[in-house]
Amino acid sequence: MPKYIFVTGGVMSGLGKGVTAASVAKLLKLSGLKVTCIKIDPYLNVDAGTMNPIIHGEVFVTDDGGETDMDIGTYERFLDQNLSKHHNITTGQIYKAVIEAERRGDYLGKCVQIIPHVTDEIKKRIKQVVESDGAEIGVVECGGTVGDIESLPFLEAMRQMRLELGPLNSLFLHVTLAPELEAVKEQKTKPTQHSVQELRRIGIQPDIIVVRSKRPLAQQAREKISLFTSVPLEAVISNPDVESIYDVPEVLEKQGMTRVIASRLNLKIERSDLSEWIEVAESFKKAKRMVNIAMVGKYVSLADSYVSVNQALLHSGAKLGASVNIDWVDSELIEKSEQALNNLRSYNGILIPGGFGKRGVEGKIKAAGYAIREGIPYLGICLGFQVAAIAIARYLCGLEKANSTEFDPDAEHAVIDLLPEQKGVKEIGATMRLGGHDIMLKEKTLSFKLYGKKIIRERHRHRYEINQRYKPLFEEKNVIFSGYSDEGKRIEILEIANHPFFLATQFHAEFTSRPGAPNPVYLGFIKACIENPHN
Ligand code: GLN
Repeated sequence: MPKYIFVTGGVMSGLGKGVTAASVAKLLKLSGLKVTCIKIDPYLNVDAGTMNPIIHGEVFVTDDGGETDMDIGTYERFLDQNLSKHHNITTGQIYKAVIEAERRGDYLGKCVQIIPHVTDEIKKRIKQVVESDGAEIGVVECGGTVGDIESLPFLEAMRQMRLELGPLNSLFLHVTLAPELEAVKEQKTKPTQHSVQELRRIGIQPDIIVVRSKRPLAQQAREKISLFTSVPLEAVISNPDVESIYDVPEVLEKQGMTRVIASRLNLKIERSDLSEWIEVAESFKKAKRMVNIAMVGKYVSLADSYVSVNQALLHSGAKLGASVNIDWVDSELIEKSEQALNNLRSYNGILIPGGFGKRGVEGKIKAAGYAIREGIPYLGICLGFQVAAIAIARYLCGLEKANSTEFDPDAEHAVIDLLPEQKGVKEIGATMRLGGHDIMLKEKTLSFKLYGKKIIRERHRHRYEINQRYKPLFEEKNVIFSGYSDEGKRIEILEIANHPFFLATQFHAEFTSRPGAPNPVYLGFIKACIENPHN
């Protein structure tokens, strides 16, 4: 029977609960246990696919085509383990299932209520996911902050699971914040005390408290938290700001995290062997050089909008001994100003990530054209692939009016057009071409050189694709289509032969990049950026 670690958050959101949950899971995995992670998102959306990444962070795509919360990406990267859409549970999914069951008549005669029907559905799903993974430990993170109305049914389900499973099979880990006021230079414990009181009010006593703070938690603060929350001193664990998120497992382990969990859950583990992981984590801090990347996009306001892209760049930098500096360049600025376009010259490479909608797209097309002309390493991802195709059509093939029908439905040269199977689609949720698809690479191409094999698998999230009618015209201009999927029906990769590095992929290579094992597309790009003679 699997054991469960429930991770809750107090004080405020954005504390890095996902990284804490992933780090704990990693430590247990390194101890030889089979581990899985679940993220609960208490919003009514069925999945993250319909949410704005500027506000909520990126939509992470799983291999099975789930559009999930970005924490799923954090778990995959820490655990080096693929998860499925079922690992992200939302209020929307739960209510949908309960209401559908009610309409079918499954509850006939009964009044359908939050307790027990909604909580039963939550418990059933959590158990199903952990059991079907064959995991010994399920780390279940509840999004939001304790005290939120919308997370109550989930916390109630966790409280019930604790009662049913007993303290040897379930554990509550609460992540809080100890703010430090400049004036008094003292770590304040009151917010932690209050958030634990809030937890207790709904019947949950935490077993472990992980305290986020700027600096390591002072002994005095630790003692105070222990006293006021009834959590033994050894289980009050400090999680201060660190240089790289990949340092967190080691930080927690140095304070005995695995030992504490093992003793609470009666786990038979010797000690985690962190040596290999520490080596990977250290590689993020050993940069000998710096690469500057211009990331041209619209969602420039929240760093979380493109976490996986950022991480993939960092993974590659760490592997090559370079620290990667990412500057977010607003494509609307490039659209308006020649100066902003020419500023791109000062970068080692230009990256255009995925995106949707017309706003700012002309600036992206200009940026791709600039990379072609100036021989600056270019990586295009999804929309960045489509934008590259438009730039090639306009600037190399002389099709001035080339566009995507996403931005100009009546484009004279629709080099990017809706996927045929998208034509009748009306609903927005979970209807794109999603998830992992096998891709065949052509030998003797840059892509083949980077991956070193013929068949690869990468993840997708798009409605539009390149129109193969323009293929011969592109090929005349030294464009190589080096990757195909769906028996040749989909073009997946384009390269420009006589360019230092111009690679664009319809897939999102960032989702499969892992620390210590960077995705080949990103690795190739960073390598080219390091070698870029412009700098
Ligand atoms: N908007 C484009 C499409 O739907 C690109 C999507 C993306 O970049 N994820 O095809």
